[in-house]
Amino acid sequence: MRYPRHDFRVAIALLVAGRLGAGQEPDPTEARHRVARLRMVEEQIAARDVADTATLRAMRAVPRHRFVPADDRGIAYGDHPLPIGFGQTISQPYIVAYMTEVIGPRRGLKVLEVGTGSGYQAAVLAEIGCDVYTIEIFEALATSARERLRALGYFARVRHGDGHFGWPDAAPFDAILVTAAAGHVSPALVDQLRPGGRLVIPVGNVYGAQNLILVEKGSGGAVRTRVLLPVRFVPLLSGLR
Ligand code: SAH
Repeated sequence: MRYPRHDFRVAIALLVAGRLGAGQEPDPTEARHRVARLRMVEEQIAARDVADTATLRAMRAVPRHRFVPADDRGIAYGDHPLPIGFGQTISQPYIVAYMTEVIGPRRGLKVLEVGTGSGYQAAVLAEIGCDVYTIEIFEALATSARERLRALGYFARVRHGDGHFGWPDAAPFDAILVTAAAGHVSPALVDQLRPGGRLVIPVGNVYGAQNLILVEKGSGGAVRTRVLLPVRFVPLLSGLR
């Protein structure tokens, strides 16, 4: 019997379609976003001295365009923050990468983020394999970030709450990232840092000059503070919304 050539071709086509369906970006829009993302990492992040391999790999992998409002997807990879509703923003890509690198990210690192927002920073940490806890003061943002992270396959614990008080029942943490500007370094957050741990937090006048501060807790518990760079974040709020 002759081999049915036609069926053979159909089988190959199905096989290829199946492989693409298994996550290889058949969609040209997704492919364009991927190109923009790789360019973002080269031009905005690696070119500005973020060198940590795990951070760069995660920034190349996490689909930032899925964390911004649908109308803004075309500008998701620009060198700027973007609004995400409720007067809040997703941070500039460089700042997300910088803060990630500063904590020395690695698989299994237990990290608390204050200010979930879109969930993007949490996704970058989860992509690296960190054990992520994240708190958000707007219930609507906490809910949408939780759903978004789940839909994209990222595991992070998302809580609606006031991050000034940290997450005492899950403490201590190896690292704490605060992604909204505080008037001072919250003692509760320093308490919830494990000896040897790092806290990164923007501190300063919430509508003016702010600095990103690194707080390091020594193995004996002594605390050392260092100014990293001037930044501009939305303010850390009080009172659940
Ligand atoms: N990390 C976010 C961006 C953060 S913008 C991202 O990747 O998209 C700062 C976020 O902090 C906002 O969503 C804001 O609602 C939240 N926030 C402000 N004050 C807070 C507080 N006291 N506790 C928890 N979240 C707070």
